[in-house]
Amino acid sequence: MSRIKLAIVGLGKIARHQHIPACAAGDEFELVAVASPDSSLEVVRSFPSIAELLDAVPEVMAVALCTPPQVRYETARYALERGRHVLLEKPPGVTVGEIQDLAERALCQGVSLFAAWHCRHAPAVEPARAWLASRNLESVSITWKEDVRVWHPGQRWIWQPGGLGVFDPGINALSILTHIIPGVYRLSAADLSYPANCQTPIAAQLLMMGPRSVPTSMTLDFLHEGDPCWDIVVETDCGKLHLSRGGTQVHVDDQRLPTPASSEYSSLYAHFASLVRESRLDVDIAPLQVVADAFLTGRRIVVGDFVG
Ligand code: NAP
Repeated sequence: MSRIKLAIVGLGKIARHQHIPACAAGDEFELVAVASPDSSLEVVRSFPSIAELLDAVPEVMAVALCTPPQVRYETARYALERGRHVLLEKPPGVTVGEIQDLAERALCQGVSLFAAWHCRHAPAVEPARAWLASRNLESVSITWKEDVRVWHPGQRWIWQPGGLGVFDPGINALSILTHIIPGVYRLSAADLSYPANCQTPIAAQLLMMGPRSVPTSMTLDFLHEGDPCWDIVVETDCGKLHLSRGGTQVHVDDQRLPTPASSEYSSLYAHFASLVRESRLDVDIAPLQVVADAFLTGRRIVVGDFVG
């Protein structure tokens, strides 16, 4: 089967560190072009915009959108309307409505749309989901803390409307949560701490009632120095499940569960390939819905200016 000719739009950190290596390592996609306003690659043709790219390289069948989320909708719509399959980096958009709109457009065009939640492809996530499926759940506690200055240096879009602030990493935790314990999460309280000079929160505390009536708490902090904490702990009647390191390790009490030797983005691209071959959609808005609810109802706490 021939490789799917792919273009990447938005040549920043995640495109360079994950998307390009994952395409090169797999045998499903061939990267043929990139589009980015100010950046280029030497090995493939580079363009400042998706419009110029698709005009010049019409054989592109699929595009992976690795831009900041604020420009994702217009770029995705442009590609879908021209019959291209689309992968959306997380978060898939800045509103729930624009993702639903894109899904309708993809269906009309008969092309695939993939709202890619990369953390769901971390190796310990599926073993955790399988173990939890048959247990009685008592509580869930999420701690997602990292140093924004280390992990997102110079990314000013994170602090602008639609940039999500601390929910940019926090939504990764929500993408795992809503996969390992699927269902409706009803937010009961949210405290959101906004630096006086930013449009998005730098810390957050959420309380929710999860599916199967599981009390669920979430603590997010973007000013955590040292090693990041990317942990989800689920208390059950059969022991404590601890998913750690962003979904790469899972323990039940003191015992580590076996995990496959797979890489997150290789698995993600393998799934995208299967969607493209069958022109199917995989668009789950559940993680973004929780963030939207937090922004709808959250108590705003103003804290000191953020100095990057
Ligand atoms: P980034 O380093 O700031 O890169 C974003 C790139 O998008 C910039 O290099 C910029 O290109 C480009 N861009 C800006 N506006 C554009 C437009 N209108 N059209 C095309 N390209 C445009 O950000 P990132 O960390 O890669 O994150 C990008 C997305 O991936 C975010 O949604 C983020 O949540 C997600 N993500 C990030 C990570 C991570 O660890 N960083 C992990 C997973 C997912 P120029 O350089 O040409 O100006």
